[in-house]
Amino acid sequence: MSVDAIEHWKIYLEHPEVGAIMHVHAWVDGIAATEINYPCGTAELADAVADLIRVAPEPGRAIIGLKNHGLTITGPSLEEIFERVGPHIQRQVPMS
Ligand SMILES: [Zn+2]
Repeated sequence: MSVDAIEHWKIYLEHPEVGAIMHVHAWVDGIAATEINYPCGTAELADAVADLIRVAPEPGRAIIGLKNHGLTITGPSLEEIFERVGPHIQRQVPMS
C-alpha cells in the first residue's frame, strides 16, 4: 500500500497543530473508522479520513480507522504517537 500522500497533505493543511502523521496496518479498539474500504492513495480515502479527523475530540491527537486496512494517527510528534497509541495497538486489522 502507498504512503497516502494526498491524505496526509490535507491533514497537515487543515490542522496546523499536527506535527506527525503515522499510517500503520494495525488496529485499535473503539475508534472512529471509515465505512468503506477505499483504495490507498485515493481522494475518496483522503476525504473520508479528513472528515473523521475534523470531528475528532482532538484533531491534533486523533486515531482514525481505515476499514479493512489500518490506521491513520495524528500527533504532535512520532514519539508522542508511539507512547500514546503503542500500548493499544493490535497487529491484526479486523476484516468485515
Ligand atoms: Zn496502507
